[in-house]
Amino acid sequence: MDRKLLELENAELKRQRRIDLIQAEQNETLLNQFFEVELELLACNRLCELVDILLNKFRDTFRLSSVTLFLFDPEHIAADLLSELGHQERKRVYFQPDLRLLRQLHPHEQLAFGEVDNDIRKIVFPDHPYILSAARMPLVRQNCLIGCLNLGSQDIARYTADIRYTYLSHLMSVIAVCIENCMTREHLHRISIIDMLTSVHNRRAFDKEILREVARANRVGEPLSCLFIDIDHFKKINDVYGHQTGDRVLRTLGKLLKGTLRKTDFVARYGGEEFSILLPSCAEEQAMMVAENLRTQLAKEILRSVEGAPFRITASIGCASYQPLMTLSQKDHQQHAHVLLRTADEALYQAKHAGRNRTQSKPLPAAN
Ligand code: GH3
Ligand code: MG
Ligand code: MG
Repeated sequence: MDRKLLELENAELKRQRRIDLIQAEQNETLLNQFFEVELELLACNRLCELVDILLNKFRDTFRLSSVTLFLFDPEHIAADLLSELGHQERKRVYFQPDLRLLRQLHPHEQLAFGEVDNDIRKIVFPDHPYILSAARMPLVRQNCLIGCLNLGSQDIARYTADIRYTYLSHLMSVIAVCIENCMTREHLHRISIIDMLTSVHNRRAFDKEILREVARANRVGEPLSCLFIDIDHFKKINDVYGHQTGDRVLRTLGKLLKGTLRKTDFVARYGGEEFSILLPSCAEEQAMMVAENLRTQLAKEILRSVEGAPFRITASIGCASYQPLMTLSQKDHQQHAHVLLRTADEALYQAKHAGRNRTQSKPLPAAN
């Protein structure tokens, strides 16, 4: 009898052991997935990549129904950095101009998990009426809420309030650090290469880019054209309508250039009311067509002063084109970039002299 009992007990212990083993294996797999994803987060340099991992990789790897992200973004820095995000992803990132909603969602700045009630669901998963449980992670840096990440599941038992999710707490801190690092790094880089008034590149970025493009033109054996655009009688605009209107004109021109040119073209504000453009893989004839198109579009544009008075502007454009010479040293690249730039500027000068509101090209001096 005792022996029978012992055998039964033994069988039960073995069964339990098997269950524990399976559970342990599942936990290990999950933990490995967490580690893997954590390493990916830490390796991210761009906010776009980071957000893509949070929204898509998290959803797929951890079999979630939806992931949403809220970011405190009073100065639109995150929104600007995430402007390239895909359409589907954009719908799941919510930029917050102030802290009211985030404080309401996370009054104690602590991980919240368990069933989600209707009110919370409508706020954090507006597109997913079937989310039943969630892990809602406040993202905190130096005692300040910077956002929150919400992992939602249609399985009501997925996140139960009586289980402690130690690893999620750890992950929460890692995500907050990664977001802040990416934003700071990328924003600083952007400030260093972008002209703050017009949002096109600045002169520093242009001077670097022209070297890269001359090197590329030589490598692939393709031409490279450079345009210099200068607004005609811009001083008068400032004198008649004021400096603020002048600034508005510069912004409009920046937008027109970026909106008209190809993604691979490079637009910069070279200084004052002068813009420089690089057109890779573009020979002189084509570059002149691009320039003429820009000039006529600008001449057609009706601008408005800050007081609402309509007016038009014109610009003069200088164009120079570079044909690659095969065997070049680094120093030659610099020299050729310099000559290309100088020639486009001289062509612009000729356009001004010839009466303004025109496009002028000038051949590069023959190599000696
Ligand atoms: P031209 O047809 O010969 O190019 O004449 P212009 O009046 O455009 O050229 P000029 O070089 O005489 O004057 C350029 C003006 O651009 C003078 C300067 O005050 C103005 N300017 C430069 N930077 C800015 C800026 O950031 N904002 C505004 N509003 N004006 C600027
Ligand atoms: Mg001018
Ligand atoms: Mg000028």
